[in-house]
Amino acid sequence: MRLTKFTDLALRAVMRLAVSDEGGALPTTRKVAEVVDVPYTHMAKVISRLQHLGVVEARRGRGGGLTLTGLGRRASVGWLVRTLEGEGEVVACEDDPPCPLRGACRLRRALRDAQEAFYATLDPLTVDDLVASPTGPVLIGLVGRGPK
Ligand code: SF4
Repeated sequence: MRLTKFTDLALRAVMRLAVSDEGGALPTTRKVAEVVDVPYTHMAKVISRLQHLGVVEARRGRGGGLTLTGLGRRASVGWLVRTLEGEGEVVACEDDPPCPLRGACRLRRALRDAQEAFYATLDPLTVDDLVASPTGPVLIGLVGRGPK
């Protein structure tokens, strides 16, 4: 199973925000994009979605920037990935033309179960868990290669 690029970028963003020093300058969308090495426009869409989900908030004014909300910090990675990936199946049984087996396919059922097992593996993890060593220290050290 392969995650969409959008979900991958969202996970990179929340991991970067999870290692922000609350007492220091908060990162902007542009800074997060630079650090995780993606175009600003892609990251802006990702941050907007994460704000709608209540995972990220933007603080305005001096010292403003992006921060994880309490929900974002405690959120289950399984929930976040499920939400971002949507309800889609891993195979396109209902495409045009649809697969003739779709009404009675044991493979389809098995793939749904496998997909659910994939998400269930991520359920016990929080965003904070993802930035434990060695990931967190590496994230803090990333400075990016400049604007894209
Ligand atoms: S064979 Fe089964 S899993 Fe594959 S496309 Fe057809 S219905 Fe879906």
